[in-house]
Amino acid sequence: MRNVMIEGGSKAINQLRLEVLKLLGSKCSDVGCTWSHPDVLQIDHINPVMGYREPSWKMLLRIKHMEHPEHEFQLLCANHHRLKTVRDLEDICEYKSSLRQLDTLGV
Ligand SMILES: [Zn+2]
Repeated sequence: MRNVMIEGGSKAINQLRLEVLKLLGSKCSDVGCTWSHPDVLQIDHINPVMGYREPSWKMLLRIKHMEHPEHEFQLLCANHHRLKTVRDLEDICEYKSSLRQLDTLGV
């Protein structure tokens, strides 16, 4: 019973994912990148949200019902998504360490 539900669910999620990819332009948003194959496209929060990971089906449903999903989400190919994630993490680390510096300065 449980397995059947999961299987049916993942098909529905795939369908939903394809719809959302279409809504977001069906290609990598990185300038000059031409990847558009649905299997390599990933949905990226333009402004990274830390500490809270929404289940993917929930995120997909939310995107589908948004008036301007492109303001909050973009598509990136796996490579560019990876690069952005690394950059975002670096930004957050820098931000945190700048906060620590403020602490030690007594500001
Ligand atoms: Zn790309």
